[in-house]
Amino acid sequence: MQARRQLPPAIEALARRQGGVVTVGQLDASGITRRIRDRMTNSGILIRIHDQSGLLCTRAPDLKSRLWAGILLAGDPSALGGWHALHVMGADVRPSRLAEPIQIWVEPHRSLRPKGPWRFRRDFGDRLTDRFRLDSKNPWTISNERSFLDISLGLEAQACVGLALDLLRDGGLRPAFLAAALTRQSHRHRRLLLDVIADHEQGIHSMLEQHYARDVEAAHKLATGSRQVQLRGGFADVVYTAHRVIVELDGRAFHRDRFRDARRDNANALAGYETLRYGWTDVVGDPCLVAEQVARRLRARGWKGRPTPCHRCA
Ligand SMILES: [Zn+2]
Repeated sequence: MQARRQLPPAIEALARRQGGVVTVGQLDASGITRRIRDRMTNSGILIRIHDQSGLLCTRAPDLKSRLWAGILLAGDPSALGGWHALHVMGADVRPSRLAEPIQIWVEPHRSLRPKGPWRFRRDFGDRLTDRFRLDSKNPWTISNERSFLDISLGLEAQACVGLALDLLRDGGLRPAFLAAALTRQSHRHRRLLLDVIADHEQGIHSMLEQHYARDVEAAHKLATGSRQVQLRGGFADVVYTAHRVIVELDGRAFHRDRFRDARRDNANALAGYETLRYGWTDVVGDPCLVAEQVARRLRARGWKGRPTPCHRCA
């Protein structure tokens, strides 16, 4: 009997759709017996993905192969979650995040513990109900909104807002779906995220202004600025008129036009105003630093008051 030196075209095609990965069951079904399989593994036609996984790859396994391997191990229905799901859906995810274990959501009665880079998590919610795939060559993922909420549970407020803004900016998060998901589950940053979404949807930054008013200005007993004042350069968010200091709050996920910002700042500078600019991550992440900087500029420009430590920096 002549040894098989090639995989049947049907298996090649199947592997191409599955990131190069095939299961033993799929090989069996196309007549690749254990003996042929072993021979093909010895000669490098098939490559083991992970010793005990029983999965084989028709090419050198890469990240996509490992993602598919997890999905094939879990069986149907299952779906990727976490950073890997966002990556598959086109978000810009740092390589260090992709080196973390691969999260695969399975039905609540399943219990899977194969060795390897996968973490199988049982879904007691509805993640698998609205799972999604870009096309048949991509593994199933839970929705971006659910992936984001799962990830951000482990993030501090500043990192959580930063990630939300990034994903909102490039269209990775749908504001209405995120808001809806937040009403269905508890989340440590729920209130904050709803404010970020509200700002994003309205295209204004009233929510960021509220955070600034509360956590920066009032909490540190700074002078009270006027809101939305028309100056030579256009409307300014917060203006300390007596001291000619402007605070611009950039609540938008879309980076606003920096040249336009510079033109405004220059026009206001000619009128004697100094401008400080802050975004969500500054105001939420370090309101005390923002307060210190604003206070320092105000005092340099004649404010006789002194900032008081808030409950965070006291
Ligand atoms: Zn403080």
